[in-house]
Amino acid sequence: MKKRLKKGLLMVFTGDGKGKTTSALGLSLRSAGHGLNVCFIQFIKGSWKYGEMDAVGRFDGLIDFHVMGRGFTWKSDNLEEDKAAAREAWAFAQNAINSGKYHLVVLDEFTYLLNYGMVDMDTVLSALAGRPSGMNVAVTGRDAPKPLMAAADLVSETRALKHPYQAGITAQKGIEF
Ligand code: ATP
Ligand code: MG
Repeated sequence: MKKRLKKGLLMVFTGDGKGKTTSALGLSLRSAGHGLNVCFIQFIKGSWKYGEMDAVGRFDGLIDFHVMGRGFTWKSDNLEEDKAAAREAWAFAQNAINSGKYHLVVLDEFTYLLNYGMVDMDTVLSALAGRPSGMNVAVTGRDAPKPLMAAADLVSETRALKHPYQAGITAQKGIEF
């Protein structure tokens, strides 16, 4: 007989196709619809789009969103500054997780911090494992590291079979931003 377990999930949205951040936004909307609090943390400054920023702003008090990081990417010319910014961003996320205030915490584009060694994998995994019970966490980003996927309850991989960019079609309002 199947066990009926209820628990907060660790979810990973990875892969090279479009839809990872969109999935996390969809989950945020779904939670907010139930009046459940969401903290959406964007780890790469500049990748947050105005469409979603304005939309979540309308869920004031339900969806808190924060943009971390100091540039478009963590890989810049000043590694020490990048590492300090990454540590600060991770400390912020840890506080959000430990606050117990949220039904869902989204760590958007967080895989890059792990892949570039900006934050320590074991520290992250133990913080996620020790999160308040019932709390859902969603991590997005390409190339999710194996230990993160192993720890997750749900892993979805988007695959780029076709993208309008390949046909020279540029970013469209409401689709890309
Ligand atoms: P989205 O925010 O649309 O859900 P994503 O989170 O899956 O996208 P990211 O890797 O975060 O994808 O990339 C962000 C941007 O790059 C998006 O504007 C997205 O459309 C674009 N993008 C994603 N996959 C591809 C691809 N295979 N080719 C070209 N552009 C892509
Ligand atoms: Mg994304």
